[in-house]
Amino acid sequence: MWHYTKNKTYTVKFGYHVAKKIQESQQYVISLPRKDSKIWIWAWHLDIPHKIKLFLWKCLKGILPVKNSLQRRGVRGIDPICNMCGMAIETDVHTLRDCPWVAFMWEVGPLHICTKKHNGRGSLVDWIIWETERIPRESHDMFVTLLWSAWYGQKERSGRGSLPIGGYKINSDASIMQGQGTRIGAIIRDHGGCEIEAVSKRLPEDMEVIIAEATACKEGIGIALEVGIRNVVIETDNLQLFQALRSNESDFSYLGNIVEDIKSLLPCFISYSFSWVRRSGNVVAHNLARHAFSLNLLESVQGDFPPNIVNLILEETPH
Ligand SMILES: [Zn+2]
Repeated sequence: MWHYTKNKTYTVKFGYHVAKKIQESQQYVISLPRKDSKIWIWAWHLDIPHKIKLFLWKCLKGILPVKNSLQRRGVRGIDPICNMCGMAIETDVHTLRDCPWVAFMWEVGPLHICTKKHNGRGSLVDWIIWETERIPRESHDMFVTLLWSAWYGQKERSGRGSLPIGGYKINSDASIMQGQGTRIGAIIRDHGGCEIEAVSKRLPEDMEVIIAEATACKEGIGIALEVGIRNVVIETDNLQLFQALRSNESDFSYLGNIVEDIKSLLPCFISYSFSWVRRSGNVVAHNLARHAFSLNLLESVQGDFPPNIVNLILEETPH
């Protein structure tokens, strides 16, 4: 029912056809007030795959199968708390916007959307309307696709099936060359030292060393969460960052802000700890950061490295 007409335009006849089809469905009956009809026309005109449109339709109707709505619909024996963070009731807006790892995904994603100011406020539909009024029309397809991938990512990860519940370690490092921006690197390994994921990234700004180190650490943590890791040691060779991460005091500096961001992701782990290591113990992360000198601005490499980096990783991997 969400296919376009052949020339991709909306016609009254086509709209009638869609409305009739929806009305015929016993499960979902259109009940949105007239003033919301604009959002349906907007949704119809997005150039996205059918399955994503169907997902958007469920978002707009408030019928995504999140624990909170399942419970409201009378499904018994559900613990309504979000599996991912354990900090909030699993509502649609929590799952797609407010849960710390998904908020991180919006922030570092291609649209750089900061969701913090909304945290806990408004409905999912209100937020979708608010964001789509702010971002350019040509990014709307991307926005909805990210929304969809947040949903599927969340569902997959909360299943916790992908990686064994062992311990993992994140090492990160940064490298700065005046006038040429900042390079960061991070590697995640399992308790046997085998590589799970590694990243090199080039950022446009010249950062202070400590800010760059904190940014690299945050990147590593984000990737660990993305791949479903839940038990982690976060290791750095920067003593100042190590101390900031372990401190409970408020710090209103720029570093304090990044450290706060990092801390807001930590509840997504079942267990975590911080560790400081000498530079000689952080060689792979250091080289991943240096490798980013060969990248273009904002380019990021994950998992696909030249032989010298692969050898380094292998050298440190126990056989
Ligand atoms: Zn959550």
